[in-house]
Amino acid sequence: MEPIYAKCNKSCGHKFYVQHFKKDKLQNAIEKTYFTCPNCGREYVCFYTDDHTRKLQATLRELHREMKWIEKDELEGLKRKESDLKQLISNGMASAKKLIEG
Ligand SMILES: [Zn+2]
Repeated sequence: MEPIYAKCNKSCGHKFYVQHFKKDKLQNAIEKTYFTCPNCGREYVCFYTDDHTRKLQATLRELHREMKWIEKDELEGLKRKESDLKQLISNGMASAKKLIEG
């Protein structure tokens, strides 16, 4: 994974590279993906996923691998599939977030 440049904009203002995301298991098999500021420990949540959404993410990764090798004329169909999957994933993350953060 590419390191992501982040700034602790909610707390100490420290700038740093995020090398690893942390994961916590919460209720209802929901997983929180987040990172913390190495300076002050402030937590930044990236997203929440439930079981179903994680399966969709895996399918999307698989699809991206497939898209690298496929013939151009078959790409359109896969792109439609990709955008459907992204929509489902973002819906899934939104409802998991709602469940946790209320
Ligand atoms: Zn900080």
